[in-house]
Amino acid sequence: NVSIWHVCCIGAGYVGGPTAAVMALHNPNVRVTVVDRDETRINAWKGRHLPIHEPGLASVVRLARDGSKERRQGARGQAAAGATKGSQTPTDGSSHSSRQPNLFFSTACAETIANADMILVSVNTPTKLRGVGAGRATDMTAVEGAVRDVAIHARPGTILVEKSTVPCKTGQLIKDILEAYRPGISFPVLSNPEFLSEGTAIRDLMKPDRVVIGCESTIPGHRAAAALANLYASWVPRSKIAPIGLWSSELCKLAANAMLAQRVSSINSISAICERTGADVSEIAKSVGMDARIGSQFLKAGLGFGGSCFRKDIASLTYLAESLGLPEVAAYWQQVLEMNNFQRDRFARHVISSLNNTLRGKKIAILGYAFKKNTGDARESPALDVIRILLEENPRCVAIYDPLCSAADIQRELRVLEDDRPLMRPDGPVQIMSSAYEACADSNAVLVLTDWDMFKNSRPVAGSKPVEVAVDQFDGAAPASILRLPLRSEKPPTPPETPKMQTLESEQDDRLVPEPPCPADCTECQTSG
Ligand code: NAD
Repeated sequence: NVSIWHVCCIGAGYVGGPTAAVMALHNPNVRVTVVDRDETRINAWKGRHLPIHEPGLASVVRLARDGSKERRQGARGQAAAGATKGSQTPTDGSSHSSRQPNLFFSTACAETIANADMILVSVNTPTKLRGVGAGRATDMTAVEGAVRDVAIHARPGTILVEKSTVPCKTGQLIKDILEAYRPGISFPVLSNPEFLSEGTAIRDLMKPDRVVIGCESTIPGHRAAAALANLYASWVPRSKIAPIGLWSSELCKLAANAMLAQRVSSINSISAICERTGADVSEIAKSVGMDARIGSQFLKAGLGFGGSCFRKDIASLTYLAESLGLPEVAAYWQQVLEMNNFQRDRFARHVISSLNNTLRGKKIAILGYAFKKNTGDARESPALDVIRILLEENPRCVAIYDPLCSAADIQRELRVLEDDRPLMRPDGPVQIMSSAYEACADSNAVLVLTDWDMFKNSRPVAGSKPVEVAVDQFDGAAPASILRLPLRSEKPPTPPETPKMQTLESEQDDRLVPEPPCPADCTECQTSG
């Protein structure tokens, strides 16, 4: 049996940070160090304001990173309650009155790699923007860089685990790089794709549907897989840990994402038919979803899927299929992406036609920028495409408000829309607001583009003037709907009148609501780490 005492996780992002934290929480005797080249991100992980927002994440990180003393019983109980539920033994140390810190964050990549028994590679794998396969193939630069560091610094026998989503056969590429730098030295390579969803990452990690571990069919491969399985078995029932082949493991992640996205595009295609016929897509989704063979998840018609994974993973799958000489397979999955684009396009055009086919002189409020609720991730939001189409009509203003996405992140994403005119000047057509009320004031239409509860649960306030267009008649855009808010000029925003709108500001329990973005002038963050 291979003993694992020190795990190094390369990449402190949406996957690396939460995964390492949950692994550390449940394996108090294992030292887990997350390394990243991005010093700002590492400092944020060390400080009070974590760089990513996930319900429950802060409690888990604090417990594993800072340890616990008697007085922190409350926080420990909170994390441990979710942690041990359903697990066979409380191996997370929650039964003890205190625990030592075993989760660390560092920029010392080489040193940490050199001390590790197992290395999780959780670096970004975006779509290639240039060159061969641009727009579809996976950009493997970060994976290559991380594997090169491992090849140079790791001790012989260190287990390397692919956690990043990678094309099928990446294991071979990794072995080739390792062999080129350290000929003749054995480094077992495993694939352990991550299936967490942003917004529910801690819940998904605490109680995964399955943990897939792919290995080569060799004795070192099986031993390495058993060592990783033992770490997971601290909190995941063995029956949910699935050992499979390396190539199957790599491909099953792409297949899972493609199939989930395909359900979204399928129901959205039906929503377009509903609009023409008068059928109700939510009634259809409900009755179709009640079929036990189909199930109800991912059948909500709306603006389509967003986020950093679905689009890029399907693009990667189509590229893989094409490279394997399977153009029909590539075309099949490509259609899932086309339907997704069609839906955004359709929604934006519906807004324009509802406003008499012109946006000149008009203000459009956008509530919610994140691709889904409970995350501050601004990457690949459907809102970007909607805004792009609206801007073609020269509106007076597109005012955006999101409770968690930082203004800097939204601005970075919108930069791709800038041509010769800067969009985000103080007097430019795009404004990022610090409250929903500011965004909605004097607007001609309010589009709710993220299904945040604070928007969903809002009700018109007495005396508020209805905005000009009600987009909730658009069947295909369940989360994209109209919201009537009091206009600032008529009635100043007094949050106590609309209690649910305040949830994010007033709620202190990070099990329910993630912490808001760290303010730019936060002295704690500047001094920590
Ligand atoms: P991310 O961009 O948030 O984080 C990646 C981090 O890796 C960055 O902080 C970057 O600085 C760091 N990095 C890159 N190269 C490095 C190197 N050589 N050394 C040290 N640090 C390095 O990405 P993410 O969202 O966490 O995704 C990581 C992987 O997990 C991707 O392959 C993604 O497809 C997959 N995935 C993501 C999600 C999700 O919801 N975000 C879910 C499942 C799987």
